Amino acid sequence: MGLTLILIAGAAVALRLLGASRGAQGAVVAIGLAFVLLVQLTLPPSSSLRMATGGSLTNWLILLTLLAVVGFYSFGIKALRQRAEDRVEPAKKTDRLSETELDRYARHIVLREIGGPGQQKLRKARVLVVGAGGLGAPVLQYLAAAGVGTIGVIDDDTVSLSNLQRQVLFSEDDLGTAKVFAAQKRLKGLNPFVEVLPYNRRISDDNGAELVADFDLVLDGTDSFATRAVVNRACVAAGVPLVSGAIGQWEGQVTLFDPAHGDPCYACLFPEEPADGLAPSCAEAGVVGALPGIIGSMMAAEAIKEITGAGQVLRGSMLIFDALYGESRKIKIERRVGCAVCGGV
Ligand SMILES: [Zn+2]
Repeated sequence: MGLTLILIAGAAVALRLLGASRGAQGAVVAIGLAFVLLVQLTLPPSSSLRMATGGSLTNWLILLTLLAVVGFYSFGIKALRQRAEDRVEPAKKTDRLSETELDRYARHIVLREIGGPGQQKLRKARVLVVGAGGLGAPVLQYLAAAGVGTIGVIDDDTVSLSNLQRQVLFSEDDLGTAKVFAAQKRLKGLNPFVEVLPYNRRISDDNGAELVADFDLVLDGTDSFATRAVVNRACVAAGVPLVSGAIGQWEGQVTLFDPAHGDPCYACLFPEEPADGLAPSCAEAGVVGALPGIIGSMMAAEAIKEITGAGQVLRGSMLIFDALYGESRKIKIERRVGCAVCGGV
């Protein structure tokens, strides 16, 4: 009986070494056992073949029963383990960063303040960038490179030659193209893992609140008081924090408005439109090319901190940078009692 078993097992091993499938190996074992059982059942006890294959049907039946019990037991254990894994896997799969993402974001992941959990927060984040101009360009590039999962960009302008002095997101090939579509193409090329939602229109009181409510955070890099006021009203109405940046000539400023958490809003600081000539736009007053790169990058850094919970965000304080003298300072800003926009929040 032992010799017969060794022969059957040997045939299966030989097939395995020859590269046969598990099915073929199983078939050989099954045919061997069936042949032995047939011999035991049909041939007389004195038959030399029956003697050579064990001589007793009972012993073979006991052995087969034992094999069947062991087989069913291991199959059952395997099925239970698979079911337990299936229950855990779906949640894990959506959260887990792929090997490519781990490689792409390696410099974030080694940062103690961001790490894997922070990178996952960035991937889940939905951020709206208002204005794809001087500030919007670096903001969009650094947010996309950082792996912010969904980036909305709203702007109704097209790329013009005078933009290229500072808006390094665009190239000469983009002249005349809508900024949001040129930006979408460039950002997808930079990081295909992020989704870019282009809104080729101007933000207004009619569409602002509904649009903003679809995002976790807004970054405003526009350069007109009227647009900033619209963005602020939309953010206050939707309870969404607003990273605000502004530039002019050689100086820029950055802050985060979040009246839903007790911090001031834009209207607390600038309740009324400045008189003509007091706050000229970049087109009127000029701006040094590298300044939007500095302030836009600071805005992107504030957004990354706000999303991941790293460090201290510029809440209730405004950072002012003077490029002409290489100086920076931080001032406290406070909520204004009776603010027409956030007063009731
Ligand atoms: Zn306010």
